[in-house]
Amino acid sequence: AISVRNLSKAFGKKRALDNVSIDIAKGEMVALIGASGSGKSTLLRHICGLETGQSGSSTIEIFGAGLQANGRLSNGARDLRRNIGVIFQQFNLVGRLSVLSNVLVGNLGRIPVWRGTLGLFSSEEKRLAREALAKVGIPEVAWQRASTLSGGQQQRAAIARTLVQRANILLADEPIASLDPSSARRVMEVLAGVNRENGITCVVSLHQVEYARRYCPRTIALKDGRVVFDGPSTMLTHKTLVELYGSNSEELI
Ligand code: ATP
Ligand code: MG
Repeated sequence: AISVRNLSKAFGKKRALDNVSIDIAKGEMVALIGASGSGKSTLLRHICGLETGQSGSSTIEIFGAGLQANGRLSNGARDLRRNIGVIFQQFNLVGRLSVLSNVLVGNLGRIPVWRGTLGLFSSEEKRLAREALAKVGIPEVAWQRASTLSGGQQQRAAIARTLVQRANILLADEPIASLDPSSARRVMEVLAGVNRENGITCVVSLHQVEYARRYCPRTIALKDGRVVFDGPSTMLTHKTLVELYGSNSEELI
């Protein structure tokens, strides 16, 4: 589903990504871990086409179609991006709109600025949006303003939006970083559920390897912009983490 080749990116003198190559198959659930500044967000931003690489021979393909090559977005990038749902640590929803409107926006691919958003959508679309909210376990909040939701509910609404968008790839950048453990587990369970039941390929960046082990069969670990581990999450033991990250491993446990 995702193929990244020889991707490098620098910000000034800082190397954020250093010759990264990864392949993720359709239907995989992959954790991306690494200490702060290791390049997780930068990599995810490249995969969703929000940022372009710099290396002379880099390519990123989505389902075999070129998203970017040699630091440039392809002509088809816009359409490809519609396949990709993105969830950030926070600020995923428009607080003044209802939860249902936020979820329906997945259909538009942009955020409407006018009032009366719901009038834009057919009753069938609204039915699908409510179904998506039920799927992520929060059917009761459809009519609430998004700003009134808890952090975990907001993340689940954002996942519902990607379902409505009919994304087949979901990139989540530290979706549980600001949540308490029980909300974090619930969000991870919802992600694992849409991965398993809807066949959506998920890449989730996480700070804590514990969640990777529990919910993601495969982990890719970054350090200073390089891939230092790529394999079964169960192999990323405490000992391996200490070997890879030294004293920074504390951050990941
Ligand atoms: P965190 O866990 O703190 O979110 P991360 O693994 O997501 O960290 P990135 O945000 O990808 O790390 O950053 C990788 C490196 O690139 C860091 O050194 C960061 O300071 C730098 N960087 C990222 N984005 C920019 C930017 N827009 N301008 C300058 N430097 C940047
Ligand atoms: Mg980050």
